[in-house]
Amino acid sequence: MHNNWIAGEWIGSSNVQKNLNPSDLDDVVGEYVRASQADVEQAIGAAHAAWPAWSLSTPQQRFDALDQIGAEILARKAELGELLAREEGKTLPEAIGEVARAGQIFKFFAGETLRMTGDIQASVRPGIQVEVTREPMGVVGIITPWNFPIAIPAWKIAPALAYGNCVVFKPADLVPGSAWALAEIISRGGLPPGVFNLAMGRGSVVGAALIADPRVTAITFTGSVDTGRQILQQTAALQKKAQLELGGKNPLVILNDADMETALNCTIQGAFYSTGQRCTASSRIIVERGIYGQFTQALAERTKALRVGHALAAETQIGPVSDESQLQQNLEYVGIGKAEGARLLCGGERLQHPANGYYFSPAVFADATNDMRISREEIFGPVASVIPADDYEHAVALANDTEFGLSSGICTQSLKHATHFKRASQAGMVMVNVATAGVDYHVPFGGRKGSSHGPREQGRYAQEFFTVVKTAYTLA
Ligand code: NAD
Repeated sequence: MHNNWIAGEWIGSSNVQKNLNPSDLDDVVGEYVRASQADVEQAIGAAHAAWPAWSLSTPQQRFDALDQIGAEILARKAELGELLAREEGKTLPEAIGEVARAGQIFKFFAGETLRMTGDIQASVRPGIQVEVTREPMGVVGIITPWNFPIAIPAWKIAPALAYGNCVVFKPADLVPGSAWALAEIISRGGLPPGVFNLAMGRGSVVGAALIADPRVTAITFTGSVDTGRQILQQTAALQKKAQLELGGKNPLVILNDADMETALNCTIQGAFYSTGQRCTASSRIIVERGIYGQFTQALAERTKALRVGHALAAETQIGPVSDESQLQQNLEYVGIGKAEGARLLCGGERLQHPANGYYFSPAVFADATNDMRISREEIFGPVASVIPADDYEHAVALANDTEFGLSSGICTQSLKHATHFKRASQAGMVMVNVATAGVDYHVPFGGRKGSSHGPREQGRYAQEFFTVVKTAYTLA
């Protein structure tokens, strides 16, 4: 049994869920308890009580804890990667890469503990010194989605702790295993009791309790648009700081002068890696007409050749989707795309092999328009819409015509168009001849428009959210 970590102890519950492997439903990954309202209140109380002392901890103390946690994650990346692949369905190399990234994030923020600097400024009045400093803000509620069950928690927990905050972490109900393993490593990191707490369970119980409790100073959330908007309303009413990373409908523009091999690789990786279950997935492929026929034909051939299978099998390129509801959602959107008049070139079906899992063949729709639902709504699966564009200007207009703004990409050999696109794209992250699958761990991550709210995550910019600014005046 895997219990919650609250106030420095493992706390059980009779409310238990079984976590199944989406590659093979006969494989039970583990049994994990669900926190009750009382458990969450205990966790918040412990964090609240631990915070005054923790906020005064030395940078060295925080450095040592985060550095040790990061080192253990990196040392165990193969084992943790296998667990992640089993419970979430990512292929093993992708899962190991995700775990390694989590370890690197802890190492990065260990270093950041030593760089919490402030400014000494001249006062406009005589004899006064002004200091502007960043300080820890209190208890942070961390709510995460199922698609990156160790990297996303890491990029919220590590800065929260590095900057002297206490944490109550609520992972996604679908994938508690990787989160529990991360929490188990953190529990041995030398943090005082109550500084870090794990509360697994339902969003409607654990997440809701974190948002409502006045002792929780801030909420950082990654997940769906609907839940995020609901949380934003609640936190605004409570004047609680909120950071939200939500969905995407990310464009990849392919111009006539693009290197065809690069364009195909960017499309396949961007649209289908992680089974398309990525907020940064390239789901709208906007192709200039001069190469449209050649590109769509080659893309369909490459997509049909992708090997869908068990996440742990060496030959697998595309793992299963996460659960039955996600699979049904993919099938529903394939039906919607056909009804809207887009041309299904390949895929879009439930697959029965190789085992008892949630297998779905990656789908490519050609001749889509940007106003179709398949081009506007986040499907969160391996379904790509290919949209023709008359020229570069038309392609940019289509790329920006979306309520989202997380990531975007362009494949071109024109320096002029690449340079212009980096400025003109209304997205938080822009890729030039690089697939959206993969970002660095030390630079900001986040979007614009409906994709994000609040300061950026990751890198040094993370301190914007995880600290508060204080201005002190001293008679010199
Ligand atoms: P979700 O919104 O269903 O759940 C996210 C988390 O919120 C889970 O832990 C869930 O239990 C919790 N939750 C649900 N209802 C809640 C409530 N009423 N109050 C508080 N917490 C609640 O999202 P998901 O299905 O787990 O994840 C997929 C979504 O996440 C996609 O839309 C994807 O684009 C998005 N995502 C965004 C990013 C990003 O950085 N922008 C990264 C990964 C995933």
